[in-house]
Parts: sequence; structure tokens; C-alpha cells
Amino acid sequence: MTAVLSLRDVGIRYSPDPRAPLAVRNVTLDVRQGETLGLVGESGSGKSSLAAAMAGLLPRQATTVGQVQFDGQDMAAMDARAQRRLRGAKIATIAQDPFTSLNPVVRIGRQLVEFQHWRTDLNATARWRRAVEMLARVGLSDPDIRMKQFPHQLSGGIRQRVAIAAALLVNPRLLIADEPTTALDATTEDQIIELIRAARAQIEGAVVFITHDMGVVRRLCDKMAVLYAGELVEAGPVDQVFADPRHPYTRALLACDPAGIEEPSRNLPTIPGVVPPPGALPPGCIFAPRCPAARAVCQTEKPPRLPVAPGRAAACHLIEATA
Ligand code: ADP
Ligand code: MG
Repeated sequence: MTAVLSLRDVGIRYSPDPRAPLAVRNVTLDVRQGETLGLVGESGSGKSSLAAAMAGLLPRQATTVGQVQFDGQDMAAMDARAQRRLRGAKIATIAQDPFTSLNPVVRIGRQLVEFQHWRTDLNATARWRRAVEMLARVGLSDPDIRMKQFPHQLSGGIRQRVAIAAALLVNPRLLIADEPTTALDATTEDQIIELIRAARAQIEGAVVFITHDMGVVRRLCDKMAVLYAGELVEAGPVDQVFADPRHPYTRALLACDPAGIEEPSRNLPTIPGVVPPPGALPPGCIFAPRCPAARAVCQTEKPPRLPVAPGRAAACHLIEATA
């Protein structure tokens, strides 16, 4: 089956200058229909950059190298109009702050009608009715009243539900959610995660869910890809990676996961050190300066990406290929 989304050696730089460093390097991954891919990593790992490249939403000065295929079609080979059409009709994104996906000065109803502009088969009344139904479906009471409100009149949780309704109105092939619950309290977070799970069942497509919360990955995702400083360090099925993480960075992230700690406290362990910026990467393994297991080879040589089981890979000198 053709993947909904397929990335091959994708790199991203935030400058048209080819000498500028790549913020994301050599990312290869597939997301198939019905799958939810969890993209994890600390802040600065390149998660949002990759999401923007998937959705075709990188800023104008940015350039992408490698190949991004959507339903088997090469995005770079499409003209601007075809790309815009694809984005509007097939890819929906839910951002961390719904203010970035919702226009603050336009009432919710008008925005939700506008989101359906690809549905040329529906007139304005039908689009309005569909929007009201969708607001009810994402659990909002008084959807008719919501339709007349502005985004700032809604709480963060309700705004995020509106953003999910907007995404579902597109009936996307690919739904990308970039840390959609970071700004919400725990109860609202739970509700939004359940809504996204329900959304996956509703759309005929795939979901990419970005988070730094490993507990959310375990609850929601089938596959996961761990990014560090712009590179994929480990990828595979969620249950396998959780049961047997092979990269020291994945192990460190799991150790920081509150769900895996018997007595959760406000002081979670953190990984000492910081993610290096794209222009100042260490010479060998990019994680070596922070890695508790690093040896001499790690400081000087870049580890290859090794298959560790069918559908699993990790890039670390300390593991041997087994698949
Ligand atoms: P994450 O979402 O995992 O926190 P980002 O994709 O936001 O990571 O950032 C990855 C790297 O790309 C960082 O080094 C960041 O500074 C750089 N970056 C992100 N957005 C921009 C931008 N608009 N212009 C220049 N650099 C950027
Ligand atoms: Mg981000």
C-alpha cells in the first residue's frame, strides 16, 4: 500500500543560502493509512520544522532537500497551485496555540465555512450546517452560539476543539497535530487526546502527532520517531520502542516520562545539557556530549542508521544490526 506520507532523506534549512546549516537532516520515514505516528524529542529537535515541511508550511526563505511524497506524488514536482490545493483539501494541521490556526478577528462560523471552500459541491448554507454539526461532534454545547463568537471569547480547550472541528471539516488524508495540548490543563488534555483518537477513526488517512510527552505517545500512537538535534535517532512501533529502547537518547526521554516514574513529582529528571543548534553540531554522534554511554568512537565518528528489528532502526555505535 502506498504511504500517505513518505519522506526520503529530508533536510530543511532556514535560508536560501546552500552553505547555511540544515536544521533537519536525513529524515526518512513513512506514515500509512490508519496509522498515527508520534514525533518526539526535546524542544529544538526539529519536530515543528518537520511538521511544517510535511504540510508545506515552511517560511518562504526556507528550503527543503530530499523527497516529500504525498499519496505517491512528489510535492516538489508540483506547481504552487497544485501544492496549495493539496494543502487545502488534504492536509489539516492543529497547532499548539489555536490562535495561530484561527483568525482572531473573524467569527468562528465564518472561518469554519471558509475552511470548506474546496467543497464546491456544497452551498454556503450546507457548509454552515456542516460546521454546526461538527462543533457538536467535538463536544461543544450551544454550537449555534459558538459560531457567532470570536476566538478570544473562548477558553483554550474550546478553541482547540474548534481547531479540531476545522481540521475534520477538511476530511484530511493527513492530520498533523503539533503539541496541541501543551497549553491545556490535564483534564482538558485528556479530552483533546480522546478527540484526536476519534478523529483518526473518522478520517480516511493518517495522523502525525507531535509531543514531548512520552505518555501521550503510548496512549495514542502506533509508530514513533525520535528526533534529536534535527536527526532521527530511533524509530519503530511504539510498544517495541517502549519495551526495549535502543538509543540512549530514547532511554533518557523515557526516564523523564512522568508516567514511568513511580512517585511522580514536580521535579522530573531531565537530561543534563542542551540540544546543540544546527550550526554547532558535535563532530561524531550528535548525542555523544550528553550520552552517559558514549565511548571514544562516538566523539569522532557518526553512527550509521542500523535496522534493529523489522520496521525498527536506531543510529548508535553501541548497537549491532540484528534485522
Ligand atoms: P521543535 O519543534 O522540536 O522544538 P523546531 O523545529 O522548532 O524544533 O526547531 C529546530 C531547529 O530549527 C532549531 O535549531 C530552531 O532554532 C530552528 N528553527 C526553527 N524555526 C526556525 C525559523 N523560522 N528560522 C530559523 N531557524 C528556525
Ligand atoms: Mg515545536
